[in-house]
Amino acid sequence: MLSPPDSDRKHTRPAGAPVLVSGASFAGLATAFWLNRLGYRVTVVELAPGLRKGGTPVDIEGETITILERMGMFEAVRAKSLPPRAFECKDAQDHTLGGFGAEAGPDAAPPARFEIHRDDLLDILFAGVDGLVEFRFGRSIKQLEDGPGGVTVTLDDGSRHAFALVIGCDGNRSNTRKLVFGDEKNFTYFMGGYVYLKVVPETGLLPPNVSQVYSVPGLTTMLNGYDDRTDIAFAFRTESEIEYDYRNRAQQRVMIHDHFDGLGWKVPAALDLMGTDDDFYFDRINQIRMPTWSKGRIVLVGDAGYCVSPVAGMGGSMAIIGAGRLAEALGRHGADHAAAFREYHDKLHAFVDDVQKRAATEGMAMIFPASEAEISERDRKLRDGELDI
Ligand SMILES: Cc1cc2nc3c(=O)[nH]c(=O)nc-3n(C[C@H](O)[C@H](O)[C@H](O)COP(=O)(O)OP(=O)(O)OC[C@H]3O[C@@H](n4cnc5c(N)ncnc54)[C@H](O)[C@@H]3O)c2cc1C
Repeated sequence: MLSPPDSDRKHTRPAGAPVLVSGASFAGLATAFWLNRLGYRVTVVELAPGLRKGGTPVDIEGETITILERMGMFEAVRAKSLPPRAFECKDAQDHTLGGFGAEAGPDAAPPARFEIHRDDLLDILFAGVDGLVEFRFGRSIKQLEDGPGGVTVTLDDGSRHAFALVIGCDGNRSNTRKLVFGDEKNFTYFMGGYVYLKVVPETGLLPPNVSQVYSVPGLTTMLNGYDDRTDIAFAFRTESEIEYDYRNRAQQRVMIHDHFDGLGWKVPAALDLMGTDDDFYFDRINQIRMPTWSKGRIVLVGDAGYCVSPVAGMGGSMAIIGAGRLAEALGRHGADHAAAFREYHDKLHAFVDDVQKRAATEGMAMIFPASEAEISERDRKLRDGELDI
């Protein structure tokens, strides 16, 4: 049993107050880093037996760079960053309809955006907390009882612990959010489609450091060639959500075949590369939109509170920005967690709203055009240099 938290003392330092972070991905590891640095005693529970690896590269840009610099991690991220990639929209005969090139070489301006393998970023963030915070892998929160002096947490092994604060960093389908705020339907904004992503060894389907996209109304196939691998992405639009069992991976593969079988371009080869294994990412394209990200002593960071969707291309950045902003607010307000949580929300939500709105409109039209008119408009904008991705 961990020791109980100190009682409320406004504007004092946390001095070893125990806090619990749920989830050990970008939001969870970055939050653990900052809370440890602020002087809290941090425990992280992660449902998976270890860090959850795999997935497509993560974009690092804007404020995320500043925050990683403050964490002392930016040079490690830059050292692992991937070369810039060209982007091409294709028709069924593989003609390029629009796109832009990759600026690289000694004369190129320093990039404002970096891409890094998801696993490399996880390793860098983990190294920043390894040995400094306690990890409990294979564990999840079962119950949260929030009281004036702290939160009593029951874990799924039945053990009970007292914490000063609980931070939910457990992703789009957050367990913490469900326990505190109720049914995810109340906060889930369905954007009208589903995405499948798989990373396979280099396929020879496209040159290195190029992304190619083929769209017909409502259906997009994307291939990203980089390093020694190729990302295969399929996305399809639907009017409303499909009832499916997210644990049934075979059913998800069938859904992709149902939508993409019979299409031209490199789609048949990409479908073949899906194989029959379960090592892929499939999810609805959705955002989490909440009027507030905290209740009492419990607060959400990253996808748990404000998933911007893969269309925004900023999920990882947003998680790191969220963790940095929460830490700033807690650093300013000390033990007055209510004031810190308010400031965290008040200062960040306009940025989140803006990213979410752009993803739901321009992002969807760009990456998953719904009609021939949207496809033509996208290709025109790319040809005229009006779009960057
Ligand atoms: C394995 C994996 C692969 C991904 N691949 C892609 C991709 O290819 N493209 C893309 O756009 N996005 C991908 N994402 C999503 C992307 O990482 C997030 O959108 C973004 O980085 C936000 O980070 P986050 O830390 O808020 O959430 P996430 O990265 O989703 O992390 C949430 C963490 O919480 C853990 N968790 C879940 N439930 C519980 C629970 N009950 N108790 C404790 N821990 C729990 C999860 O195991 C995970 O480690 C992937 C996520 C994961 C977990």
